[in-house]
Amino acid sequence: MLHPPCPLPSYVAADKLGPWETYLEQVAQVTPLLAPSLQPWIETLHRPKRILIVDVPIRLDNGEIAHFEGYRVQHNTSRGPGKGGVRYHQDVSLPEVMALAAWMSVKNAVVNLPYGGAKGGVRVDPRLLSIEELERLTRRYTSEINIMIGPDRDIPAPDVNTNAQVMAWMMDTFSMNQGRTSTGVVTGKPISVGGSLGRQDATGRGVFVAAREAARQLGIPLAGSRIAIQGFGNVGEAAARIFAGAGARVVAIQDVTGSICNPAGIDLAALRAHVAQFKTLIGAPGTEAITGEEFWAVPCEFLVPAALEGQITTANAPNLAARIVVEGANGPTTPAADAILEERGILVVPDVLANAGGVTVSYFEWVQDFSSFFWTEEEINQRLERLMTEAFNAVWQVSRERRLRLRTAAFVVGCSRVLEARAIRGLYP
Ligand code: GLU
Repeated sequence: MLHPPCPLPSYVAADKLGPWETYLEQVAQVTPLLAPSLQPWIETLHRPKRILIVDVPIRLDNGEIAHFEGYRVQHNTSRGPGKGGVRYHQDVSLPEVMALAAWMSVKNAVVNLPYGGAKGGVRVDPRLLSIEELERLTRRYTSEINIMIGPDRDIPAPDVNTNAQVMAWMMDTFSMNQGRTSTGVVTGKPISVGGSLGRQDATGRGVFVAAREAARQLGIPLAGSRIAIQGFGNVGEAAARIFAGAGARVVAIQDVTGSICNPAGIDLAALRAHVAQFKTLIGAPGTEAITGEEFWAVPCEFLVPAALEGQITTANAPNLAARIVVEGANGPTTPAADAILEERGILVVPDVLANAGGVTVSYFEWVQDFSSFFWTEEEINQRLERLMTEAFNAVWQVSRERRLRLRTAAFVVGCSRVLEARAIRGLYP
């Protein structure tokens, strides 16, 4: 008997192209390109497998109790346990975490890691919390999502505003509840508790490898090239350093505190010292403050958005003066801006490929935790290089053969792998 197509679940707001709608649009673009045998399973991509919303009450330092909303979403687990970071940000919302989890499903499949996709977050401005409050928030959130996570179920990791210390608290809280130390429950941990060498810089290093491979295809030399970066955190700082190490000049940086530029190249060591002391990019030695609008129009070979979603829009896409956009962030380009960049001949290396270095070394960390045998940093960086280059080449080949932009090609590779696993497993019961 034929059933009418199911309407989208009620929690999807249809009126606004937020991250979840952006993801759905990306899937819609790729759907007609997928094999006929996968077509019956497409709806899988539209529907997160499991969603948990939790209340996270904590006692503040002043004795009052504050409540925060937390989420963990497993978008798909057909290829393996859920995998994806945890984000602390005042704008975190359920549709955002759904999109981030879905992008993890596609990303993990593009790099061929044996994982599904998941993501978590807490709607909180962590800058307003003391370190003790942050620890209490992390431990309570972990306890609340305890029923969903585990080394062979769903493995969190750092994302925006979370770091190795937060992962150590998560690992400890989960372990205390289990009655045994379970290092493999999260990745991105400190080295002293089962973390991996090279994980800290992994996303930035992967962004660099993806950029280098794209530049090679376009015949752009790295030495002397100019790079502009949005975000100076987990991803942006490492990417800036590794690009500079390869002879590129970081000519502009933007973060929540403002935008700075120096066409001769920003002194990154001086910038780090300045940011550590004054908590702002503005005023860093040798740099000039520019407006947000000017930042997006800075002439450069590589533009690396490494902050939040929805940054490259129809408002700034016509002004970009970059040859290649390398998406260090998840979902930084809206579908409408994507079309403008394609028309303007600006190559976009999409998030699900460009920023996969982080989760790739997370996978290495998880494997090392299971075997209790740890690799050298050199081994890790070599393996990361190899996986990122192979993934880039596979996506590049599909894009040339089928005349698709890189994002669509990456989605063809990733979604096909997810749906092949889904189809071969079949429906239960
Ligand atoms: N948060 C990172 C990402 O968006 C890393 C996730 C992980 O290592 O699991 O890819």
